[in-house]
Amino acid sequence: MDPVRTCALCPKLCRFACPPASACGDENAVPTSIAAWIVLRDAGTLTADAASTHPLYRCTGCLGCQVPCEFDIDVPAFLGPERERAWKAGHVADRVREVADRVAAGEPPDETAGHHRELTGPRFAGQGIVYWPGCALVGLDPGAVERTRALLEERLEQPVGLPAEATPACCGDPLRAAGDRSRATGHRATLAQALRGASRVITGCACCLEALPAGAQHVIDVLGFQWPAGDVRGPVAFHDPCHLARPTDRGGAPRALLAASSGASVEEFVDRGVETGCCGAGDSFGLFFPEDGLAVARFRLRDPAVERSTAVVTACSRCAAQLARSQPAGPPVYDLADYLARSRG
Ligand code: SF4
Ligand code: SF4
Repeated sequence: MDPVRTCALCPKLCRFACPPASACGDENAVPTSIAAWIVLRDAGTLTADAASTHPLYRCTGCLGCQVPCEFDIDVPAFLGPERERAWKAGHVADRVREVADRVAAGEPPDETAGHHRELTGPRFAGQGIVYWPGCALVGLDPGAVERTRALLEERLEQPVGLPAEATPACCGDPLRAAGDRSRATGHRATLAQALRGASRVITGCACCLEALPAGAQHVIDVLGFQWPAGDVRGPVAFHDPCHLARPTDRGGAPRALLAASSGASVEEFVDRGVETGCCGAGDSFGLFFPEDGLAVARFRLRDPAVERSTAVVTACSRCAAQLARSQPAGPPVYDLADYLARSRG
C-alpha cells in the first residue's frame, strides 16, 4: 500500500517514538496526523495554505518512527516531495521562508548560527584539506572551531584550512528541508565550486555531511585511534546523533575515540544507538520552530545519564549547539572533536 495511506490508517504505533510529538505534546506531528492531512487534501476535503501545511514541517527527519513501525515506512521520504509542493505553491510559513532566504543569500540561517568569514584561522586557497565547521558550531563557539581545526592539522600532519571567506555560511540543508528544491540545487553547485580542488573536506556536523560535495568525511572517520593518553575528564554522557545512528548505528567510533583520547568513561542514555532520541535540530526543525526545537532538546537531556555526567558529548556539531542552547544551566555540551581537543590540555 502507498506509504501515506498506510500511515493515515495506522493506530499511531510510533506515537511515543516521535520527539516533536512527545516533547511538544503535538498530535499534529505524529505521522498518522500528517498523512491524514495529505489524504484529506488529495480528496479535496481540506484546502492547502500556509497555515494548513504546518504539519508537513513538524518532522525532524530523525527516523525514530522506523524503530517501532511495523510497515517499514520512511516518513521523511514522503514529506520531502510534499514540502516541495507546498513551497512551489507558496504555502509555507513566513519563518520557513525567512530561513531559506537567508541561506540562499549565503548568510547563516538564523541569529544563533555564525558565518565562518568571522573566524580568523587559515583559509582554503584552492588546494589542500578543508575543515567545514558548520554554521551551528560557528555560532555556538568560534573557539571550538579553531581547536578542532588545529586538532585535525595535528592528527593529519598537514595544513587544514577553513572555507574561503566568500563561501556560503550554510551547507544549504535548510533549503532542502524547506522544500525549496531549485535553490537547494543551486546552493549545492555553489558549494561544490567553492570547495573544488580540496583534497579532503572534513566536517563534524552530521547534517552538513549530507549536503556537502560527495566524498566529504566526518571527523570521526579521520582522527584515528592511536592517541597519547589524555586527562581523564569523565564520566560523559554520549548522545548518538540520529544521522549517525540510523539506519546504521555508527556509535562505535565516537565511543572508541572518547576512550582512546580522553580516558573518559561513557554514561549511556536510556535511548541510544539506533533507538537514540532527536536533539530537535534535524531537518531544520529547530530553525523553523525555535522554541519547539529547544523543547525537543530539553526532552532529550532529561535522562539519568546526564545527571551522572560532568558533560554531554555528541558527534554532530549541530546537535551540540542545539543541546547546549536548550539547557544553559546543565552540564556543558561539547562537540566530540572539541572535547577531545580540550581533554588534551
Ligand atoms: S511511520 Fe509506521 S508506525 Fe508511524 S504512523 Fe506511519 S505506519 Fe504507523
Ligand atoms: S522522522 Fe522523527 S520527527 Fe519525523 S515523524 Fe518520524 S519520529 Fe517524528
